[in-house]
Amino acid sequence: MSCTPAPLKDAQGRIIAYLRLALTDRCNFRCSYCSPAEHEAPGYLLSHAEIVRLGGVFGRLGVRRIRLTGGEPTLRSDVVGLVRELRAAPGIEEVALTTNGHRLSELAAPLRDAGLESLNVSLDTLDAERLRRISGRAASLDDVLSGLDAAAAVGFPHLKVNTVVMGGVNEDELGRIVRHAWDRGASPRFIELMPFGGGVPVPTARVRRLLAEQGLRLVADAKRGWGPAHYLREEGSEPPRRVGFIGALTENFCEGCNRARVAADGGFQACLGGDGRANLRDLLRAGASDAEVEAVVRNALGVKAARHRMDEQGTSLVLLPMMGIGG
Ligand code: SAM
Repeated sequence: MSCTPAPLKDAQGRIIAYLRLALTDRCNFRCSYCSPAEHEAPGYLLSHAEIVRLGGVFGRLGVRRIRLTGGEPTLRSDVVGLVRELRAAPGIEEVALTTNGHRLSELAAPLRDAGLESLNVSLDTLDAERLRRISGRAASLDDVLSGLDAAAAVGFPHLKVNTVVMGGVNEDELGRIVRHAWDRGASPRFIELMPFGGGVPVPTARVRRLLAEQGLRLVADAKRGWGPAHYLREEGSEPPRRVGFIGALTENFCEGCNRARVAADGGFQACLGGDGRANLRDLLRAGASDAEVEAVVRNALGVKAARHRMDEQGTSLVLLPMMGIGG
């Protein structure tokens, strides 16, 4: 007789079916809002075999979707193989990836062939000079845009463009970014800046007003994805052309949280805001069995708070580098 395991739940009874897994904390961009980290010590990162093993552990625990992130996940030379093996892990129904897009021209097709269903490309600006300023390096907008074009040509079931809105930096080009994404069959999403580094956050309500001022006629839409985004659609569009909004601070969505994270060093984190940490890499290297890893994950989820506290002024909350925990 087969027996389906009970769903994985956190301390608040929320079902955890979505894992964000950082493949590296290294990145070739240095975005002002995303604290960098460069850990060169040998063995610091989870190995290929450890990641695949954790995929199996989480799949058996009840995780159904894994998003690969970082750092920049495409800097790992084994990223395509990891997608293929994680997609084949028991219980895993979808593998997704978030990237700055610079290697997509060469990687979009192999990633899709390996079974990647969902791809998010980060694009904060369509201006080459602005991108260089935001990313703090000689990032090439041409590479990012041709990468997005390659992804659109390959035809992922879900292709999204993620834009972090920054006061005084990119507020004037949000409508342009929406049209650029729509023209490539991608869904644009606007993310509220979280307090991990510099920059001026723009509340989601203001982003909606800016889009209206920039000529977009958006109306309510019922779509809900795997994540916290809520959506509007272009009036009269069929099929619907949507815009997503992720208002982590001003439109808190912790109540519906369905996710947990594994950082590049194997640190399990039940909440992006800091609760419920345990290092799974050290556990695996100490010879733990899968059952022992599962128990540690359940215990960490068992102390997950009802909501993050990133919007509270003056808390002693430790803001962890986004680089290592993958957003
Ligand atoms: N390197 C990849 C990329 O550029 O998409 C994946 C990692 S990055 C940490 C994942 C997402 O987090 C990106 O869309 C990025 O813009 C977003 N992000 C990073 N720091 C953020 C912050 N302080 N507030 C909001 N979003 C942030």
